[in-house]
Amino acid sequence: MVCVSTVKSLNVLPLASWRPSTRVCGGSGGTVTMEGQKRPSPKTRRKSSYGTSRKSILKKSFSQEQVTFTAPISDDPLVAVIGGGISGLICALFLEARGVRSTVFDTGIHGLGGRLGTRVVDPHPLKFDHAAQFFTVNDSRFAEIVNGWMERGLVREWHGTVGELHNGGGFVPFVPSPRRYVATNGMRFLADSLLSQARLVNVVRPCWISKLEPFNGSWHLSENGKPCGKFDAIVIAHNGKCANRLLMTSGLPLIAKQMKRLELSSIWALLAAFEDPLPFSGSTEVVPFEGAFVRGVDSVSWMANNTKKLLISQSGGPHCWTFLSTAAYGKQNKVPQENIPSATAAKVKAGMLEGVESALGLSKGSLPKPSYTRLQLWGAALPTNTPGVPCIFDPFGRAGICGDWLLGSNIEAAVLSGIALANHIADYFQSPGTNAEEFAIGLNHEFQPLEGHDIGQFPGLGSEEKLNEGQAYELTK
Ligand SMILES: Cc1cc2nc3c(=O)[nH]c(=O)nc-3n(C[C@H](O)[C@H](O)[C@H](O)COP(=O)(O)OP(=O)(O)OC[C@H]3O[C@@H](n4cnc5c(N)ncnc54)[C@H](O)[C@@H]3O)c2cc1C
Repeated sequence: MVCVSTVKSLNVLPLASWRPSTRVCGGSGGTVTMEGQKRPSPKTRRKSSYGTSRKSILKKSFSQEQVTFTAPISDDPLVAVIGGGISGLICALFLEARGVRSTVFDTGIHGLGGRLGTRVVDPHPLKFDHAAQFFTVNDSRFAEIVNGWMERGLVREWHGTVGELHNGGGFVPFVPSPRRYVATNGMRFLADSLLSQARLVNVVRPCWISKLEPFNGSWHLSENGKPCGKFDAIVIAHNGKCANRLLMTSGLPLIAKQMKRLELSSIWALLAAFEDPLPFSGSTEVVPFEGAFVRGVDSVSWMANNTKKLLISQSGGPHCWTFLSTAAYGKQNKVPQENIPSATAAKVKAGMLEGVESALGLSKGSLPKPSYTRLQLWGAALPTNTPGVPCIFDPFGRAGICGDWLLGSNIEAAVLSGIALANHIADYFQSPGTNAEEFAIGLNHEFQPLEGHDIGQFPGLGSEEKLNEGQAYELTK
């Protein structure tokens, strides 16, 4: 049983005194602007272009008119959740808990989860968590959820040794507290299992929502011109370039402005399988840990033995390792993630394997050659700044945002954000006649830099020397 203390409450703040011009979207007769201009016909409207520059996105985001819905909310409202990462999935589940129906749209080809990614390589039994590696629990609401996941066998405690690996092979193990958790079959399978008991959530995947249009009192979503339905409210449960483009002409300038302020790191993931256990230069002959934050190496910030972490039977089988780069190395070697030049891929792979060799204290050229490798760039990996609000909601545009970056840079932050937005939207739906402005949240919060490891925040995690700082986060059974 996981249980902890901290509970944070929702701040509800008024909209800024500055308001963009407003577009009113009523229940009948379509959309008109406050200035009385007609919306451009579909023929004359400019197509959104994937190659739009940052400058042009900024200009469009800030100059677009605010949409204001005036139609009453339906008795059985339907919410579109755009993004099936953990924040979007939790948001849908908590909407269901409040009796609200939703449809989750996600781009994932292999499954849901976003940055809860697991790669399975057939026909070999190779399995790698290639983004989120493990998590700790700090908040009582998250603890309750994790307990439920444990009861369903979706997650379990990770008892393997985790610590800090200093360049040259110096390994310092962390104390066992706070407890560390992993998804039993890999992170993606946790995400894919979350909605298995949901009755009010529909999933559409793979689907890339490319346009949001307010029309006749509801939001109309489409994927490259193909209609995807109409909705009473929308949840943006993703971030980065995709979200900026989607919001650029949506009629949500305040939401678009907050999204634009978010800054994200880039991280390379190198998945590698070795025939034998990795050698080590320290006191043992083979690597004495299952996971390590790497220190003093430019190219690598984390390494984990997924075969051990995921308790995959090893009888002579390969050893699957996930190596994650530092954010600095990601920035230095940044390229378009969907089109990685082969020269960059070769350079990064060699650089990361050299980093691993050096971290393990092995002599040059002595790291065994992996039998399988795969390189991936997380171009929008982790947030480096945050507004520090549980969620963002624009009650005039009936649109909200949830995601890790609103509160931090880990799975827990994403879950808490999803819960907060679901409850906020349900409260809003259940308060007809209340001044909409009272439901505005997070639209003007300033951003602060985020601290933590290159792969996220793990409050309280550390070696014995660091334990004192971490005691506030101690879990109890
Ligand atoms: C390399 C790496 C390592 C990490 N390690 C850890 C760790 O060890 N522990 C930890 O707690 N956290 C870790 N994190 C962070 C953790 O993965 C995230 O905090 C969390 O998964 C974020 O969830 P989310 O729902 O906010 O966003 P996401 O997981 O990014 O979900 C967004 C989803 O929206 C989809 N989407 C985007 N645009 C559209 C569109 N237009 N239409 C439809 N769908 C769309 C995306 O495909 C994606 O599935 C790591 C992250 C990375 C990148």
